[in-house]
Amino acid sequence: MKTVNQAIEYLIAQASKTQLTESRSLANALGCVLAKPVVSAVNVPPHDNSMMDGYAVNTAEIQIGRSMAVSQRIPAGTQPEPLAAASVARIFTGAPIPSGADAVIMQEQAEITEQGVCFQQMPKSGESIRRCGEDIAVGAEILSSGHQLRPQDLALIASVGQAAVEVYKPLTLVTLTTGDELLQPGQAPQPGKIYNSNHTNLMTLVTQLGFNWVDMGQVEDTLKATQAALSKAAQLGDVIITTGGVSVGEEDHLKPAVEALGKLDMWQVKMKPGKPLAFGEVMGKPFIGLPGNPVSAFTTFNLFARPFLLAMQGVTDLMPPSVWLTADFDWPNPGFRREFVRARIENRDQTSYAQIYPNQGSGVLTSTVWAAGLVVIPEDQVIKKGDRVEYISFNDLAH
Ligand code: AMP
Ligand code: MG
Repeated sequence: MKTVNQAIEYLIAQASKTQLTESRSLANALGCVLAKPVVSAVNVPPHDNSMMDGYAVNTAEIQIGRSMAVSQRIPAGTQPEPLAAASVARIFTGAPIPSGADAVIMQEQAEITEQGVCFQQMPKSGESIRRCGEDIAVGAEILSSGHQLRPQDLALIASVGQAAVEVYKPLTLVTLTTGDELLQPGQAPQPGKIYNSNHTNLMTLVTQLGFNWVDMGQVEDTLKATQAALSKAAQLGDVIITTGGVSVGEEDHLKPAVEALGKLDMWQVKMKPGKPLAFGEVMGKPFIGLPGNPVSAFTTFNLFARPFLLAMQGVTDLMPPSVWLTADFDWPNPGFRREFVRARIENRDQTSYAQIYPNQGSGVLTSTVWAAGLVVIPEDQVIKKGDRVEYISFNDLAH
């Protein structure tokens, strides 16, 4: 049996990073992964500029209570003249500081007089000036390669004047589900059959992470059909993901089919829900076989397939952040497997509590809908109300 961490580490080590890159406009790059660092060709701000609407002054020339002439007006977006001696300049937020001025006095601290303007407080040199390059200096690396682009990252790239970025081409994932008991949603119910929910789950998990998705639907539970579907999948995509058929029942044809076309490791991972997991290769393409139970498929996709796929896509930050919450539940019976328990947060008395769904069965999809994340119960551990527990939000698994 592998521990959860051993399985994750092994998978990440096996993930070979894609080499294909493409240039994308900022409008088409959300969620993409940078293949090159972004280096700024400009200073931000590009010039010393005013933080306020007010007056640009030379502090050496200011005297409290004495009027000074206003020699120029500098709106944002214009180019000022040098500051004339013994004068001040009317200036607006973002406008360049004229040479000769070393501070801005905000307009609320200025009094308009017949001769111009007079001040009641002595400014400090540098006051209310944003310095050239203060946020970003020319040549600075503002984002590193392997970073997955969020809205604020794209805004930062725009702020240094770049309209496009070099990103890794999104990989294509092929999914297929196994099991002759499965009906497609939309079909009429039939005795002995259940609806296929993993198909929809995989489709959305994969596309939510930014991958291209090729749907091979459902494969008939025979060796011949499974082998044919897998070889087609290997031709269509970069990675193959299946659900079901990884326990070693008689009806499970995935194992021999994958072995005939490549290689396969069957793992028992020390976790709940989940446990059986298959990893291998079909005609040179990585293959991940998730368990059939819907909650197990969902959990193992997020814990194992996600970091593996992101590593292949070139992402450097692979693991979701976790937070620590106060348990609002008792977990009296320790298990030898690590448990990933469907949970959500309740805030009360300025404390964030983790509540867990009463039915944690691995087929109970309602638990994943009620929940907003997973509480991690370590191996061999008892939890009492009030203990601190680790929680991973589904939101942090969605990218
Ligand atoms: P398996 O791993 O194929 O033995 O399946 C384990 C359990 O998950 C069985 O009860 C299956 O009926 C169920 N199952 C397998 N695949 C799916 C699916 N695509 N959608 C819903 N349930 C499934
Ligand atoms: Mg099956």
